[in-house]
Amino acid sequence: NSFLELHLSRPLVRACEALGYSKPTPIQASCIPLALAGRDICGSAITGSGKTAAFALPTLERLLYRPKNRPAIRVLILTPTRELAVQIHSMIGKLSQFMSDIRCCLVVGGLSTKVQEAALRTLPDIVVATPGRMIDHLRNSMSVHLDELAVLILDEADRLLELGFSAEIHELVKMCPKRRQTMLFSATMTEKIQELIKFSMNKPSSIEA
Ligand code: AMP
Repeated sequence: NSFLELHLSRPLVRACEALGYSKPTPIQASCIPLALAGRDICGSAITGSGKTAAFALPTLERLLYRPKNRPAIRVLILTPTRELAVQIHSMIGKLSQFMSDIRCCLVVGGLSTKVQEAALRTLPDIVVATPGRMIDHLRNSMSVHLDELAVLILDEADRLLELGFSAEIHELVKMCPKRRQTMLFSATMTEKIQELIKFSMNKPSSIEA
């Protein structure tokens, strides 16, 4: 029961060691192999379960093998609040510390639109965003697109819906390629979440923390 046994590459195992993670949490042990196999995943998981690394590690593993000469947004992580986005962005920085040239960009309200726009135009590998801000950029900039997105992550889906982001999420999902991996995490699995799962995912595996 170690990160190495989960078939993560050396730079990611080293990052877990550097962070003092001695072994995967239950959600990581169930999520990582399925995610590495390319499955869609819907997870009941609360903050504190280690869910951020559960979706970030297999996603970073995929990015190790991306074509380096073709910049594109390959991963979009949607989360309900600015605070959560900042935490996820910081965690991805730590988990990718031994990988070269991974670019992760934060797109949230309250930061300069111009600066974010400039960052997005360069097509970073990963975007961590709140839905409203992300939609604004996709609508207003010709050069920002999700045409080559490989992984979509809906974090704290119940709160995304509670905060009224349903229309934005649907619009964003429609902008993503059909062929992609989608992971959704939620503390509760309500009817509305089931609808979102149906709309956004392809035969998801369910996991529980
Ligand atoms: P999260 O549920 O993603 O918000 O993570 C909660 C906390 O658990 C964070 O501070 C992580 O750094 C920490 N954490 C994540 N995975 C592990 C692990 N495998 N071992 C120990 N701590 C972890």
